[in-house]
Amino acid sequence: MQNAIETLVTSHPKIFKGKSPKVSPLVPVGWSKLLKILCKVLEEECTASTLAKLEIINITRRLRCFLKVEYKLKGKVSPQQAWTVRDKVFSVSHLCTYSCVVCGEYIGDSPKSISMILCEKHIHSALPASLKMFRRRVASA
Ligand SMILES: [Zn+2]
Repeated sequence: MQNAIETLVTSHPKIFKGKSPKVSPLVPVGWSKLLKILCKVLEEECTASTLAKLEIINITRRLRCFLKVEYKLKGKVSPQQAWTVRDKVFSVSHLCTYSCVVCGEYIGDSPKSISMILCEKHIHSALPASLKMFRRRVASA
């Protein structure tokens, strides 16, 4: 995850200004894809003046399955500026309940409330052998 964050910091200088946020080791690597989307959307939707005031401080995992991006807006900020940032951060945090924790792939329209969300490809590598055997038996019963 640290490598993914460093890549984000260097590819989005307007957002990070060369400063890495604190990232919890509990944040799964698949969510770096969501952070990448967040950076793109912020750059597209925020004015240069809003981005100049933005500082992303902390990236953590809340209640096991939610991405939490803590940020600060320094100086004088209009309600419109505050709302734009808040709206984008909230939306991307919400997306993590639809995304594989390994690769970040979007996996369907209903939010998952379990702590390990995996796409079809990664669920097979994560299941213990005994569980795979039961799955096969259930499927053939
Ligand atoms: Zn996956």
